Amino acid sequence: MIIGLTGGIATGKTTASLFFSEHGIPVIDADIIAREVVMPGKEAYEKIVAFFGTEILHADKTLNRVQLGEIIFNDTEKRLMLNKIVHPAVRLEMKKQAEQYLNAGHPFVIMDIPLLFESKLTHMVDQTWLIYTKPDIQLKRLMERDGYSEKQALSRIQSQMPIDEKKKLADIVIENNGTKAQLYENLMSLLTKTRKTDSIK
Ligand code: ATP
Repeated sequence: MIIGLTGGIATGKTTASLFFSEHGIPVIDADIIAREVVMPGKEAYEKIVAFFGTEILHADKTLNRVQLGEIIFNDTEKRLMLNKIVHPAVRLEMKKQAEQYLNAGHPFVIMDIPLLFESKLTHMVDQTWLIYTKPDIQLKRLMERDGYSEKQALSRIQSQMPIDEKKKLADIVIENNGTKAQLYENLMSLLTKTRKTDSIK
């Protein structure tokens, strides 16, 4: 079974992923894969350089992500082009890794996909699990973690689908409004339940 783990910014996906890794469940992180597929030598990298030119490279030939970010921020067509190159490569690599884990005998694989709903990627997973934090706690944790002002944090939260909207779409909602120990308890009971259900099948 492939589980799509998602949430809003700073609701606790990374914290939950760590828990799953510690319990022997493979976690495939979409953000890490998105960085790996644009490394020099990879197909997506070659396509990006062919389209945007060598001026978007650092001296060591790696992508200058800041410069690329500025270019696509100001140009919708170029942004779409970049997505058209990167997104399929990320999806393909995630699927490949998931298959490898499942073939190796793991009953579950977690795909950590922050924008699972926004990017309409639910077709890639069998179940969606949402790490949910009430909006006021989400704001507070984001400000604390990244040192943002309230305004900066709010603008980042508001650039995503509201967490309460995601709650309506998710198969399973994992509450993260208390302590980390409480989150771990919620995750543990979900894991136990899922393992039991899976062994019945
Ligand atoms: P992002 O989308 O930005 O990658 P995330 O969903 O991965 O964020 P985390 O980084 O796991 O979220 O958590 C956000 C912050 O809140 C971190 O500083 C984390 O340590 C803290 N945090 C997470 N859960 C709790 C909790 N239950 N109690 C207190 N702090 C928490």
